Amino acid sequence: MNHFPHTRMRRLRQTKHLRDMFNMPFPAPEKFIWPTFVVSGSGIKEEISAMPGQYIFSPDMLVAEMNALISSGISSVLLFGIPNEGKKNKTGSSALLKDDSVYKAISLLRTSYPELTIFTDVCMCAYTNHGHCGILDESGHLDNDASIKQLAEIAIHHAKAGATGVAPSAMADGQVLGIRKKLDEHGFINTLIMSYSTKFASSFYGPFREVEQSSPGGGNRVAYQQSMADSKQALRESLLDEVEGADILMVKPALSYLDIIVKIRQKTNLPLATYNVSGEYSMLHATAEKGWGNLYEMASETLLAMNRAGADILISYWANQYGKLIKDNH
Ligand SMILES: [Zn+2]
Repeated sequence: MNHFPHTRMRRLRQTKHLRDMFNMPFPAPEKFIWPTFVVSGSGIKEEISAMPGQYIFSPDMLVAEMNALISSGISSVLLFGIPNEGKKNKTGSSALLKDDSVYKAISLLRTSYPELTIFTDVCMCAYTNHGHCGILDESGHLDNDASIKQLAEIAIHHAKAGATGVAPSAMADGQVLGIRKKLDEHGFINTLIMSYSTKFASSFYGPFREVEQSSPGGGNRVAYQQSMADSKQALRESLLDEVEGADILMVKPALSYLDIIVKIRQKTNLPLATYNVSGEYSMLHATAEKGWGNLYEMASETLLAMNRAGADILISYWANQYGKLIKDNH
């Protein structure tokens, strides 16, 4: 009896109420984290040409922006620092200064919005003059263990300023363990670690690297970021970070890796985030500009897919336009 003409799938879809009853809900605003960029100075709000609707802010202007975001229900940000060109050096040491844009932004946001959930990207690629995600040894290769020490110092710096959580993104082996130990030693036992646990060497980071000016000067990142063609290793990366003490795992990027989200979701009970990266955001804008699709319907469709795959948390540039996303499927 379980087939046509007794079974008719359209029966289930005939009214909006029925469709709404069976549909999973669109992710609530609390599930979103808005990634954004901060630069030193004041009075700066500069639109990023490759990412319409996204800006580079000075700390004061970011604070001014938060009211609109919070009233739309978004309660979390992920901050990326952009140091002035003259401040970049071999070790990325300007990330540890009190006049670093991230340090200042955290302090100001924490004062103005005590309840805001503030995550910070913990990496060195924007701060080093060679553009790699860590410290290089004499032969020009990434020194994994020396880099961990510096990443842990950056994490402490952000925690001191008032960050709720730090998000190490360098794909250094042992970085979560190193940062957890250092945070605990300094009494920051409640500072979360949201690890970029499975971060792929992807072609979808282009618009972001233009903003951060963080493309490696020589070589690339395939020696430390995850290969897109090895899903077993992609799983191991996240599961190792769980053992090291991560509080939240992450898959980055999102759209080309929905299968990895599904698999990690099945292997862990930790919260799982996915990072809907700049190239994924910009390609929808480019499609919409050509008149080939409705911007917010396409955005909603991709975000729902990430959620359906098993991501609990959506790190997405769409977060600051949450009100425009389609919340019901007609
Ligand atoms: Zn990096």
